[in-house]
Amino acid sequence: MISSKTSFIALIGNPVSHSLSPIMQNAALQYLGLDLIYIAIPCKDEDLELVLNSLKKINCKGLNITIPHKEKVFKLCSKISPIASKLKAINTLKLNSEKEWSATNTDVEGFIYPLRTLNFKKKESIVLGSGGAARSVIQGLINLNFSTISVISRNKLSLDELIKNFGSQIEIQGLLNNDDNRAQDLIEEADLIINTTPVGMKTTKNEENLLPFGENFWRSLNSKSIIYDLIYNPSPTALLKFSAKKGCMTIDGLQMLVAQGLKSLSFWTDGLEVPFHIMNDALKDYLKNK
Ligand code: NAP
Repeated sequence: MISSKTSFIALIGNPVSHSLSPIMQNAALQYLGLDLIYIAIPCKDEDLELVLNSLKKINCKGLNITIPHKEKVFKLCSKISPIASKLKAINTLKLNSEKEWSATNTDVEGFIYPLRTLNFKKKESIVLGSGGAARSVIQGLINLNFSTISVISRNKLSLDELIKNFGSQIEIQGLLNNDDNRAQDLIEEADLIINTTPVGMKTTKNEENLLPFGENFWRSLNSKSIIYDLIYNPSPTALLKFSAKKGCMTIDGLQMLVAQGLKSLSFWTDGLEVPFHIMNDALKDYLKNK
């Protein structure tokens, strides 16, 4: 029950109305029996500083930060975890004992979660796309001990930046998606291929039947590869349906979403744990009835 003592956690971004975080986080908070609720607050760029400073003064215990503020919040935090500094992106804030924001990033742990029991030593991976999520994915692949990472993107600028950033830590190469011969060789041999582009997402334009870089790009795919699509709506995506037909193991983005949410909740509550299925079931029920 919400009472005059209830505190809150909020998602700050723009837009936030599509977010599934309130569904899964409120299910988890209810499970834990905490007098806390989770809400989404849309916030424009120019209001970010005012909103974050104001939230420090009221009964707000923590925040999730999403697009477009993941980089801009750095200057508003007093303590930043090594992983958030490395990724240059923050997704979780907590009010510390000095009433200042402590920050971290839980996306890498979220990405790794569905892969955590597999052995990827000497294995080859491909990342499609070179935006914000690709950074967390690459860090996750490094943590999982992959031997090589190939990033395929349409954007040379962000591709070069990524390779420069991670080049000292792992054997990583970048190629543009129109470098077809090289791409086909890589796809044929890949153990894991991760889609971090938004292609295949449910949109108002009915574009969810598309495959990243078009169907022809996938002609060398075979059952050796695991296909991991960061998109969780629709589930499965067109890419995952196509890959399953080729005999591949497939993973959708829902587990990553839930796992990063579990880690955020643990950060806000100083280590409380919620079973994975509590948040996962809440999301599945919600998406089924939508
Ligand atoms: P982002 O920073 O905008 O990066 C998207 C990347 O995809 C960029 O390299 C972009 O290239 C490329 N791209 C966009 N449209 C494309 C197209 N039509 N064909 C080929 N490449 C295209 O976005 P993000 O934050 O990384 O998020 C990417 C996706 O991951 C979204 O669908 C998001 O919902 C999902 N995601 C899921 C989770 C989860 O928990 N499951 C977490 C994070 C993100 P340009 O730079 O040229 O546009």
